[in-house]
Amino acid sequence: MRTSRLPFASTLIRAVLYFFSALSIVLAIAWPGYTNYLDARRTAHITEHAAHLDLMGQQLCHESLQAGIIVKLLSGFPLSQHALIPGPNQQQARADLAGQFARFANSFSMFSQLRVLDQHGNEIVLVNNTSGNIVNVPPEGLQNKADRDYFHITSQLNGYELYVSSVDLNQERGVIERPHNATQRFATPILDGQGQFIGMIVANLDIQAIIDRIKNRTLKHDREPVEFSILNRHGYWLSADNPDLAWGWQLGRPENNLATINPEFWAAISDQTQAVIPAENGAYLSLSVFPMKLFDEAGILAVTDADPGQGAVLTKKNDAIEWKTLVFLPDTFWLQGSVFYQRWAQGLLTLFTLALAAASWLLARQHTWRTLMRDIEKEHTEAMVDLYENAPCCYQSVDGNGKLVRMNQTGLDWLGYKRHEAVGQLHYSDILQPDPNHLDDADPRTHLERIKQDGHLTNHPMMMRRKNGSLFLVSLSSKALCDENGNFLMTRTTIADMTDRYRLEEKLREQAFTDELTGAINRRQFNFLSERVLNQMQRTGKPCVLMALDIDHFKRVNDTYGHAMGDLALKAFVRVCKENVRTNDLVARMGGEEFVVLLPDAERDTGITIAGRIRAAVENLRVELPDGKSLSFTVSIGVTVITPDHPDLSHALSRADERLYHAKTGGRNRVVAQKE
Ligand code: GH3
Ligand code: MG
Ligand code: MG
Repeated sequence: MRTSRLPFASTLIRAVLYFFSALSIVLAIAWPGYTNYLDARRTAHITEHAAHLDLMGQQLCHESLQAGIIVKLLSGFPLSQHALIPGPNQQQARADLAGQFARFANSFSMFSQLRVLDQHGNEIVLVNNTSGNIVNVPPEGLQNKADRDYFHITSQLNGYELYVSSVDLNQERGVIERPHNATQRFATPILDGQGQFIGMIVANLDIQAIIDRIKNRTLKHDREPVEFSILNRHGYWLSADNPDLAWGWQLGRPENNLATINPEFWAAISDQTQAVIPAENGAYLSLSVFPMKLFDEAGILAVTDADPGQGAVLTKKNDAIEWKTLVFLPDTFWLQGSVFYQRWAQGLLTLFTLALAAASWLLARQHTWRTLMRDIEKEHTEAMVDLYENAPCCYQSVDGNGKLVRMNQTGLDWLGYKRHEAVGQLHYSDILQPDPNHLDDADPRTHLERIKQDGHLTNHPMMMRRKNGSLFLVSLSSKALCDENGNFLMTRTTIADMTDRYRLEEKLREQAFTDELTGAINRRQFNFLSERVLNQMQRTGKPCVLMALDIDHFKRVNDTYGHAMGDLALKAFVRVCKENVRTNDLVARMGGEEFVVLLPDAERDTGITIAGRIRAAVENLRVELPDGKSLSFTVSIGVTVITPDHPDLSHALSRADERLYHAKTGGRNRVVAQKE
């Protein structure tokens, strides 16, 4: 049995299916937009950071340029010349210069050392600035620097040239200072009034402080610490996130080089002034910085040994020093800023997902419900169709012209037609015809006319014709189907097969009207039929003959052979009577061994002849008995004539009985007829 409850599992499966389908569609539509949006954020973020790095680069350029200008300025100071030219004011000049340097060091903290060397490399003025602690080194602390590269190179330069050293770690008495203190030397010759080289200014730029400042600003710029590195053009770190990696070429660790550690990565950024390298959970942004970029514009010709770590080569190109600034930008930067990381957007998203789930559930429920309904309806329809098609009666409809428009399978089976041969093809007259046994129905209209005019027809007996032409009796009940204006559309007809009932009726009729033992009609039927015969006689005007027949000494037959043999004899007697009369003649058993025969349309002579024939035939009759013997008997017959002018049956019967009596008393086995 079906229940009206929804099947939960299938609804759930369907709902999940709907939900994920809808989600897929929403994602398919929204995802490109979302990724575009993220890309745009990412691009904006990278652009912003690139701009920051560029700004940092500009600052580096400016600080370098500033250092260069100051060194050039100092070299042009008269004091600087005076401090180098022997004379009475030399000592005073040196002291003044030292004071001047101290003030400079104070004002421009970028310098960790400012000094003057004479043409032999002797330090004559030296001011140290160690984290703001400015010390004027006394003469006994001064050294000779004639063996240093910067002295050699600078002593070769023209007055307008500036030597910028590569960056290296400060060494104190041959040992690399800790923590690392990166230094870059700016040096320029000092010339006398004749343009002769008399010494030089050497300034140590605290490049470590500048790098640290850039690093700090960069890290502070972002919302959370990111990796920040500065590399030189050969892949060595000047500043590294992991401090152990820095200054590889200075510390004798050539393997601490990005080009060695990650050649692919290095190849991707080394030739690009700006590059973005995607990485796990983020991207690296690299930007080239040229610290000496502004020197040309300031009219300073820099000479530099540009390639530390690869062997220094002197060059006068302003892009000789190229550094790479490199930051790591985690994805979280632009993701976190995206709408889906916002509370309200997540809330909306949750709401949307819930709504989608709810809608999926409702839709699935509806669908399941519909499916269920459809199944029930289908089952119902199938049952109805089965009932219609296979009902134990024929359903059919004909239209106003009598054309068959519907017929169920039972009807088709009865008649032996295929559906396509019958529906739309046959006229009702091909399969239905009036029942001749019911012609007494006086209505002259066809059954279709009666349905159309009366609206219905009930239990109307008709004959149905099979495809093979055979007929059977049916009972037809029908209603007229009309449109809303009352115009006839078609019949709705039920036809019941009456064959069995007809047979039963026949049998009952037969049983009611015939003698069971002999098959002769009984007294009641004789009365009924003889009435018709007498009526007919009235019309034709021709007389009839009535005979009364009584078997002779039948009691003896019974006594001799037994009652059963007597029955056999009675049957044989009736058979003999029927054999000797016409089919229209009536042979009736009136009781016991007494019979009557009525010959319609017969004269007296004919009656006598036929009675004689019966008598003779009975006399010659031998009834075979089961024991192999046979019995015989005779009959006495009284004959009378019924004429149209006196058609009274009971009188005629009395007359015939009277003749019979005469036959009996006259010796039996004889025919006695009424006198003319
Ligand atoms: P009769 O020549 O004077 O007519 O002599 P009968 O013996 O024929 O006359 P009766 O009328 O005295 O006897 C009729 C007998 O018919 C009596 C009865 O036993 C027998 N009989 C009547 N009906 C049946 C029947 O249905 N079967 C058998 N076997 N005998 C019957
Ligand atoms: Mg009798
Ligand atoms: Mg008798």
